[in-house]
Order: sequence, then C-alpha cells, then structure tokens
Amino acid sequence: MSERGTQRPGHTASEPSAPVGSMPTYLGMPSFPHAARAAVADSQLRRNLTHATTTIRVKRARAIGELEDWPRLRQAAKAIKDHALAHLDTYLARFEENVTRAGGHVHWARDAAEANAIVAGLVTAANADTVVKVKSMATQETGLNEALEQAGITSVETDLAELIVQLGNDRPSHILVPAIHKNRSEIRDIFRATMPDAPPGLTDDPQDLAATARAHLRERFLTATVGVSGANFAIADTGSLVVVESEGNGRMCLTLPQTLISVVGIEKILPSWRDLEVFLALLPRSSTAERMNPYTTVWSGVAPGDGPRDVHVVLVDNGRTATLSDATGRQALRCIRCSACLNVCPVYERAGGHAYGSPYPGPIGAILSPQLRGEGSPVDASLPFASSLCGACYEVCPVAINIPEVLVHLRAKAPKHLSERAVFGLSAAILASPRALAAAQRVAGASKRIVARRGRIRRLPPPLSAWTETRDAPAPPPESFRAWWARTHGTAGTGNGS
Ligand code: SF4
Repeated sequence: MSERGTQRPGHTASEPSAPVGSMPTYLGMPSFPHAARAAVADSQLRRNLTHATTTIRVKRARAIGELEDWPRLRQAAKAIKDHALAHLDTYLARFEENVTRAGGHVHWARDAAEANAIVAGLVTAANADTVVKVKSMATQETGLNEALEQAGITSVETDLAELIVQLGNDRPSHILVPAIHKNRSEIRDIFRATMPDAPPGLTDDPQDLAATARAHLRERFLTATVGVSGANFAIADTGSLVVVESEGNGRMCLTLPQTLISVVGIEKILPSWRDLEVFLALLPRSSTAERMNPYTTVWSGVAPGDGPRDVHVVLVDNGRTATLSDATGRQALRCIRCSACLNVCPVYERAGGHAYGSPYPGPIGAILSPQLRGEGSPVDASLPFASSLCGACYEVCPVAINIPEVLVHLRAKAPKHLSERAVFGLSAAILASPRALAAAQRVAGASKRIVARRGRIRRLPPPLSAWTETRDAPAPPPESFRAWWARTHGTAGTGNGS
C-alpha cells in the first residue's frame, strides 16, 4: 500500500513532476574554487588522498583485468539501467506492488524534507529514540541525521568510516571511504576524544581501531529497535532490496531491529534478478577491487520468523525526475556509486571531497548534484567547471556514464557572466584578424614584465581576473612565432597556423 508523502509515478521520463530537490546539510557551501583553494593548501590532506586513491586505483585495475568480458558487462549494465530509467514508472509501480504483497510498506517522498518527515514519523511510531544506520548516500543527500536530531532521535552510523566522520563532527569526503581524508593517527585521536569506552592505551594500529569501533557498536546493535538503511538495488519483479557492504555492520542493522526503514532513490530500480547478476559482478571489482562483496543482504518484505517485523521503503525523488527529463544529463542516474571516477580524477585527488559541497563528490558529484539541486547556489553553479575534462572518469565508469559530455552540457547551460562574454567577444575579434592578432601579441609580449612572475601569470586585472582567480597561465613568450618567422625568413607569416 502506498502511504503518506507523494503521488505514484504515473509520469514518463519526459514529464518532470517533482520540483528540484534540496540537500539541507550542504546548503550555504562556498563555490568549488574557493573551497578547493583551502584544500589544496592542506599538505596533510593531499598526502592522505594521494596515498589512498593510488592504492585503490592499482588494486582496482588488477581486479578488472581478471575479467575478459569487462567491456561487455559494462555495456550490459548501461543497457539495463537505461531501460529501467526509460520505464521507471512501470518498474516502480511493480516494485511497490511486490513489496506490499510481501508484507512491507512503500512510502513516496517528493523531496528531502518529505523523506525525513516520513522516517522521523516511523521511528516515533515505533517508540524509539535511537536508530542504527547502514551507510547510505540517499540519507546523506536528504540530511536525515540532522533531521532526526531535530526530532529528538539519535542516529548511530555503524559503517566504520561513517562512524569516524560522525564522531569527528565532520562530513564524508568520498563515496566509498567517507573518512579518506583522515589518517590512522587522526582517527585514533577522534576515538580517544569521543568514545568513553575506548581503551586508555589505544594505538593507531588499524586492528586496534577496528576492534574499538566494533566493541563500541556491538551494544548499539543489540539494543536498537529500529534500523535505517539505503539500498544499492531494488528489484521490481520481487520487491526485493539489496545492500552490499564489506564490514558486516549492514547485515546486523538489516536483521536485528524490529523495524527496518530503507530510504531509496527511485533510480535504484532494476527490473529483475537476472539484471542484478550483472551488477554484482561489476560493483565489487569497480569499488573495493574485490571479486565479490563480503556481505550481500537481500530482503523482500517481511519473512516469518526471520528479521524485522515491520519493513518500510521510502522511495525518494528529490530532483531525480527533473534530471530524467534532460536527455544528456539523465545518464548520471545510471551511477551505482562505485567511486571509481573519484579515484582516477586529478582534480579530486588534489582538492578532496569536501570542496564539492555535496554528498556526491568527485566527477559524479560535479554532474549529479547540480542536476538534483539545480544550479542556483554558488557551489552548484561551479561544480560543472570542477574538472579538467581529461576523460579518465568516463574510461573507468562501469556503467559508461560519459561524465565529460554531461559536464560540457551543464557548462553550456550555465549563465554567462558579462565579463566572460566580453572576453570571448574580444578574443573572437582578435583571432579573426591577423593584424589585430599581431598587435595583441606585441602588447602581450611587452606587458610580460609587468604581469608575469617566474614564467607564470598569477593575477590579471578585471575582467581577466575571473580567469586568474582559479588558475594561472604561462607568461607570453618574448617573441611570437609570427615575429620570429618574419625576423628569420625576412617575410611575414601567412597567418595560417601562426
Ligand atoms: S559515475 Fe560511474 S565511476 Fe563514478 S561512482 Fe558512478 S558508477 Fe562509479
């Protein structure tokens, strides 16, 4: 039975029916260039990131190399996702029907506020004031922890890295490894400062840290009556949800509590079990570089005598149908959150995840967040520009999302500043005239001593300062090619290619 919240998805891919969503926890973040400038100056952060992303990259390449049919798997995954997205209304309705038949309850949420209100209402109805949580991008997107806190409900993150972030009063900076920006000794310090049950002599040995977190969480698992999760996949044919994870904390949250609430983005739908097979081959290799996930938990409604008695699924739009209406941008909804694009991105490796001001950092965040939230805020307007367009993200993406294509598409839609229009207009006029180009080159060469330091131009006067705010440029050469040609050959250059 469909409950509370919103309408059923009777719309098609080309008919957006929901307002662009909001991500309350990340509102008011500075634009990417400003946030990145501070991050790039943090040498410890850069060391942590370089070490972690390099290690993951190498392992992943090895795991992918073992499969000869990786390109075909990738194409199959892309085709399945595209098909599911094109028929989302049908598959979501089928999913709801099958969850309900299996004794579960489906709720529809148009946006983050609605999703959070539904979850808070369900927790209150279960007479609980604490929930244990499985790592979930969807609940980060909706700002669920903060909303529950306002409702007087404590949420306990049980994924080790999420726990570190939560205890450190921090934000995740990576999809798969949310605390990637912290090293071992920083984590030890967080545990010492925030865990009353941490042993006095706690070291920064990874096994010590994991054992401390395990002991800390065990009590919460055994006493919590409500679990909250996301889902990696939702199978329409059977109304099943699938969570894959590496630590086993998810299995505890999904099976021990009496009430289970899963917050799921509507794009997570797969038509059938046969489709899941493809993704269970792709996802572990592409994310953790494992051949299979250590823990894959699947549940379909309520199973007599086994697991939670009260099962709820909150299906969240929050900007997804608006994204679906964009023929180029909708491919971002294929994402399975493997994080491979983050680990190969030169911009992410230097700026880190916080600079993206969104729960989805890195290349996927640069195209997904502005589409889900709209490009109204400084951070969302800046995200499509947070890329060198090198294409490494597209190469590794297991569902073949052409991230550079979407970046360029979003850049073209971004409003152009007056100064930007003026600069491009002036450039076009100069490049169209060999005489004007020669004059401009002479001016640039002459001004070199004024604007350049040690071979680089770091600051230009307005309106060109918009360029040098976020990047520098090589100093103009002392002599242009045209001038060199004229001097050494005694004739003026042709202008063609000069
Ligand atoms: S965009 Fe592709 S590579 Fe990046 S997280 Fe999503 S599925 Fe993985």
